[in-house]
Amino acid sequence: MNDTKNMYLAMGISKEVYEYGNVILDNLKERFAVIDANAEYNQLKVLKAMQDNQVSEACLLGTTGYGYNDLGRDTLEAVYAKVFHTEDALVRPQITCGTHALALALMSNLRPGDELLSPVGKPYDTLEEVIGIRPTKGSLSEYGISYKQVDLLPDGAFDYENIRKSINEKTKLVTIQRSKGYQTRPTLSVARIGELISFIKGIKPDVICMVDNCYGEFVETIEPSDVGADMVVGSLIKNPGGGLAPIGGYIAGKKECVDNAAYRLTSPGLGKEVGASLGILTSFYQGFFLAPTVTAGALKGSIFAANIYEKLGFAVVPNGVESRHDIIQAVTFGTPEGVIAFCEGIQAAAPVDSQFTPEPWDMPGYDAKVIMAAGAFVSGSSIELSADGPIKPPYAVYFQGGLTWQHAKFGILKSLQSLVDKGLVPISDIIAATELLR
Ligand SMILES: *Cc1c(COP(=O)(O)O)cnc(C)c1O
Repeated sequence: MNDTKNMYLAMGISKEVYEYGNVILDNLKERFAVIDANAEYNQLKVLKAMQDNQVSEACLLGTTGYGYNDLGRDTLEAVYAKVFHTEDALVRPQITCGTHALALALMSNLRPGDELLSPVGKPYDTLEEVIGIRPTKGSLSEYGISYKQVDLLPDGAFDYENIRKSINEKTKLVTIQRSKGYQTRPTLSVARIGELISFIKGIKPDVICMVDNCYGEFVETIEPSDVGADMVVGSLIKNPGGGLAPIGGYIAGKKECVDNAAYRLTSPGLGKEVGASLGILTSFYQGFFLAPTVTAGALKGSIFAANIYEKLGFAVVPNGVESRHDIIQAVTFGTPEGVIAFCEGIQAAAPVDSQFTPEPWDMPGYDAKVIMAAGAFVSGSSIELSADGPIKPPYAVYFQGGLTWQHAKFGILKSLQSLVDKGLVPISDIIAATELLR
């Protein structure tokens, strides 16, 4: 144990911060055991899907050119469909990111004159341009697809009355974002998503319910597709890629919805039949296989971060004790300096590019400067230890990932050390908090 402590000291963590981390951990043992039990279930779920679909060595090879008869690609899609309990799935390196997967699902399933409804408030920043909330070339709005939004009530509950009023003869698709994204509203549990879908289908049974599942995969033992979602959509450089997928997105759902997406991704008439997987399939399979345990490590990291910062008086969402439905942790610092110091600490903890200092920049798709800490093996991967914060009030950072729990722990301690070193958190506060918890 002393050897471990000496390693932390050698890597720039002070004795006080290290000891504070350990007393926080002493109180998290039971929660971590529940996370491990979840991961065990999900590991078996993925393994069973691979075995039931007879994944073979030949599946790992991949194709070139048109990619006709790509056994590995087609089998992987069947594995995803099995895990999400859906009729079909589209899992492709040609889907460039999560935003692309969501845009694809929307644009392929909506037609001019249709209306899109978000009953859970403002969607993720990049979706504003996809929808046309912020006017942009190629948006849904340009194609004559209208948009309605019903915000959550101040206490985070669904505004059922206004949702009912907003569903009309044009409403074709409802988009439900599971994760909080760059907001401080609560993340939705799969059970709550299920209640919302039942309510909506009770009013209009044929409406398509799509869930933006980013950061939610494998956090629970069920997925939104188990509670009525017609499509679940996400990014492979988040949870389901397990840190190994170097690119990609997925759409799992009803056959008709997935087919529509495939015809849009490739071409009418071609659909899922083309799209060479090149040499990428091993990382997709292996990443999906590791995803349950990688997600569990990231989840432990976010709970650890919540407790570390909450006990020092910072506002954290979710809080230190509430149940978790995604891997994101928001910490509100209230100042740009706090956001920047936190991100610098995360960057300094990275296995790649730890020698560089992140700076706020104008990122495409976002309306304020954003600082991102990401010393990742896969550029921009946020299942790896990463943090980002828009430089705008309330000056919150969104922390996520860690391919291993041990790395997440180190990163969080490093972020706190950075705040201490910059004089933003007095060391006396850390000593006092440690004493209080002992
Ligand atoms: C990350 C994310 C997206 C967009 O994914 P990108 O891969 O960054 O394009 C969409 N919705 C939510 C909730 C996300 O977390």
